[in-house]
Parts: sequence; structure tokens; C-alpha cells
Amino acid sequence: MKIRQNRLDRQYFEHQAEFEEKALEVLRGGMYVLGKEVSAFEREFADYLGVKNCVGVACGLDALRIAVHLLGIGEGDEVIVQGNTYIASVMGITMNGATPVFVEPNEFYSLDAERLEEKITKHTKAILVVHLFGQATNMEKILSVAGKYGLKIIEDCAQSHGSSWKGRKTGTIGDVGCFSFFPTKNLGCFGDGGAIVTDDDHLAEQIRIYRNYGSCQKYVNVMQGANSRLDEIQAALLRVKLKYLDTYNLERNRTGEKYLRGIKNPLVELPKIAPDCTSVWHQFVLRTKFRDALAAYLERQGIQTLVHYPIPPHLQEAYRYLNVPKGALPITEQLADEVLSLPMYCGMTDQEIDTIVGCVNQFSN
Ligand SMILES: *Cc1c(COP(=O)(O)O)cnc(C)c1O
Repeated sequence: MKIRQNRLDRQYFEHQAEFEEKALEVLRGGMYVLGKEVSAFEREFADYLGVKNCVGVACGLDALRIAVHLLGIGEGDEVIVQGNTYIASVMGITMNGATPVFVEPNEFYSLDAERLEEKITKHTKAILVVHLFGQATNMEKILSVAGKYGLKIIEDCAQSHGSSWKGRKTGTIGDVGCFSFFPTKNLGCFGDGGAIVTDDDHLAEQIRIYRNYGSCQKYVNVMQGANSRLDEIQAALLRVKLKYLDTYNLERNRTGEKYLRGIKNPLVELPKIAPDCTSVWHQFVLRTKFRDALAAYLERQGIQTLVHYPIPPHLQEAYRYLNVPKGALPITEQLADEVLSLPMYCGMTDQEIDTIVGCVNQFSN
């Protein structure tokens, strides 16, 4: 049996007729950008999360980049972000000319709030919290530190659609929440897409203007904006998927639980969920000193795995200019060497899950 790390076809075929009908409806409707599907999706996603405003944009990176920009953060400013994240979190900061200041993660792979205060300088403007792998970050201490120093909180929710801290959905806790709808995400479209959510009506209005060339009404431009819009087909298909998001997340949760209960191998450390936090299991990420050997062993058994992520942002060529040397973030760097993501997707069969559990348990070094 061959098991891929992710496959999107299973979820597509589960609701094939609905997706195809909806796509045809948009194609035949003749309105392809900023029409009723985008407005309807924005309303429905805001209601789902429990936030006042949602503005669709072109992708998750744009959501971050635009949020940072419209919070007034740019050259000379610093934004604190965890070292172990996908590079887009960091690019959202640096594309605005601002400087990322990396903080180490805790045992939950989340930003370690205990190390937050020591990173704050007079240039710090915001904390960018990444709810990594689907698990919500415990926001208690982060909120109090942000309050104490007057910092903004930006949530990167590209991997956490529907997860929550103390019953509050990720994206609604800080000043602004940034989502990606890249196909592999928990709520994924059929191309690129993203959204920014906020309770701040003024900020939402600014984002709405910015994403459409800085235009407040046709051919009247009040700022230098961008062309960064969620298109009608993607919005329409996201409306179909949004109805099933909780069901999809429950299914991932069931798979995560099966892994947690079934995997018993002293060489492998399983992911942990923090108190008051839920995970929507965007990825199931274990760690082991024998990562490369385990990945190779599973590959030989026909099981594909991935590493999220093998090179942390501060060690990427792109960020050499930041001068954060190897060894500066030992926990982040160790994670990059030890983490391994097992297959996780909607439509996994029990047989596939059991096979994976069995193989991980058989692994020895
Ligand atoms: C996917 C992802 C992004 C970027 O989203 P895109 O839609 O691909 O631009 C940002 N942050 C994190 C944590 C992600 O996983």
C-alpha cells in the first residue's frame, strides 16, 4: 500500500457534485471578481469565527503583508515572531521593510511567551503569533505582555482554521487574523486565496480599499494599494467547504487521536496539546532524534512523510542579511532536525491510519 502525506482528491470527490455545480454557477453568472460570492463568503466566514469583519485577499502572504502595512508597521520597526514557522510569516514582516525578531518555541511548538519580554525594544510594534500545525497558541501571557507595552497582535491562522483558545477562535483574539486558503490548508480553495479578519471597522475598511488598488470608489484612489483580491470562483467553492469545515476538522481530530493512542515507540515523541487550546491537526508532527532514519524507513514501507520545516527562516539564504547566526535559536534549530509530519488529510481510511501506526511502532534504530 502506498500512502501519500497529503491528498486533496479524496475530499474533492466527497462533495464533487456540489463543487462542480457551484463552479458552473459562477462561470455562467458572468461576474468573476468582487461579486456576491466574495461578499457572501466574507460574511459567512466572519460569522463562523465570531468576528465583525472579514476581507478576502489573494493569498495568505498578502493577508500578512497587508495587515502589517495597515497597522502602520514599516522600516525601523520590529515585529516579534517565533523562529519555527513557515517563511511566509516572516516575509509578511520583511516585505514591509520591518525587522523580524525571533523568539524560541515552547514544548507545544508554539511561541514561548516566557521568552517574549526579553525581546521587546523601543522599536517593537507587534507580536506575530503563528498557530502552527493547527494548534491554537495559549494567548494569556501574550495578551498581557502586548497590553503592557502597547503592542499589536497579529495572528497567522494559515494552519488553524477553526481551532480555539478558551473557546475563542484563532484570528479573533488579537488585533487582526490572517488566513490562507491554499489548497492544502484545513479550509483550502482550488488555487490561491486568503483573508484578513478584524473587529476593527476602520482597519477593515482600509484593507478593503487597499486590496483593490487603493480605490474607495471606482477610479477614485485614496492610497497606493495592491491588486490582491479573492476571486469569485474560489469564494464560491470556499462557501461550500466552509459548511463542512467543522466536520473536516473532526475527522482530522479523529486521525490525530488514533495516532496519539496507537503510536508507542520510545524513540518517538508525540505532539502535545496545551491546556485551554484545541488543535485542528493541520499537521501531525512528531519528533525524534532519528528523524531521517524514520522517514527513510517509512518511505520503504510506502508511507510518505514531510518535514515542516527543514530550514528555519533565520538560516535561509533570503535572510542572511538579518545576521542571525546558526546556534542563535537552538530550540528552533533542533526542531528543524527532529520534526516529522505523518500523513494527515480528509478521507484517510482506518486501514491507512493503522498501517502508519504499525510501521512507526516497528521502527527501531
Ligand atoms: C501557508 C502559510 C502561509 C502563506 O499562505 P499562502 O496562501 O501560501 O500565501 C503563511 N503562514 C503560514 C504559517 C502558512 O502555513
